[in-house]
Amino acid sequence: MGRPEGRHGRLCREARSQVERTLDMTTIAFIGLGNMGGGMAANLAKAGHDVAAFDISQAALETAVGNGCRAAESGADAVKGAEAVVTMLPAGKHVKAVYTDDVFDNAEPGTLLLDCSTIDVDTAREVAEEAGTKGFLMVDAPVSGGIAAANGGTLTFMVGGPDNAFARAEPILEAMGKAVIHAGESGAGQAAKICNNMLLGATMIATCETFNLARRLGLDLQTFYDISSKASGQSWSMTSYCPVPGIGPQSPADNDYEGGFAAPLMLKDLKLAMEAADSVDARTPMGAKARALYEQYVAHGGDKKDFSGIIAFLEHGESR
Ligand code: NAD
Repeated sequence: MGRPEGRHGRLCREARSQVERTLDMTTIAFIGLGNMGGGMAANLAKAGHDVAAFDISQAALETAVGNGCRAAESGADAVKGAEAVVTMLPAGKHVKAVYTDDVFDNAEPGTLLLDCSTIDVDTAREVAEEAGTKGFLMVDAPVSGGIAAANGGTLTFMVGGPDNAFARAEPILEAMGKAVIHAGESGAGQAAKICNNMLLGATMIATCETFNLARRLGLDLQTFYDISSKASGQSWSMTSYCPVPGIGPQSPADNDYEGGFAAPLMLKDLKLAMEAADSVDARTPMGAKARALYEQYVAHGGDKKDFSGIIAFLEHGESR
């Protein structure tokens, strides 16, 4: 006969089960452990989930194991026995291949699928439809926020999918972000993401060329910032991510345009936005111009720089 449980033992047991309830531990397969996925998978593990991680890059996999995930041998191996699958992959073709080759044939029907990659709306809808016919619940859940937000668990998720899928996805996404917003049916997350980033690309260019003009007109740039940030020209590009070094809050401009959101990723999103606009006959002349300018910037030295570094390209015709 064991000793009767003391007050301390009972409190410990109650505290443990409270923690387990709070964590609501889930077995999660995470595929795609790159710049973004690495931090996201680490945050899921930190939140107490059992994360089976896979990436074709051995180095990425080893980092994930160092951050509390367990290594799977393949995508197919990762999804076996998982209650949820999260993918964070470069583009639509990777997403299609991973779901077709690894997920659909190896995950249990009923498993929740969350694709957090930024991909084209049509592929997102196509994959979600196939998932539905195979008995899975799926959301597209692209993110706003860069590598620092992925590492810090402060991403914003824009989610497309049916209500019951969103309800199950929300607590998992909350472990990786500061905001989780249901945008509508399948594909709506991707639609919201590219609309947001088309607006961001255009306002960043407008902000950059405005500061370049202000300088040439002899305005003190701090004074112009003080005025415009409180006037009708204010935007997130100006007051949260100012492209001029030394002005506004700390931003990649203060770090020689390193880190932050890489210009090639902005170009990728603008291309997706233009494809989507064509598919629904939307006229987006500013979006088209932004895409053309980012294409030139990336081809003229901006390929390794933050997207706000386009300010130098707009001023000089090349990245400095
Ligand atoms: P990344 O290239 O660093 O990571 C992608 C990872 O996927 C790589 O590690 C790659 O090895 C892995 N991968 C590719 N095919 C695979 C497969 N078949 N099986 C397993 N792993 C595979 O890219 P990232 O910067 O992490 O971006 C991921 C997604 O997030 C992209 O869609 C991007 O547009 C989006 N995004 C990126 C940022 C950012 O700041 N980096 C911000 C917002 C959104």
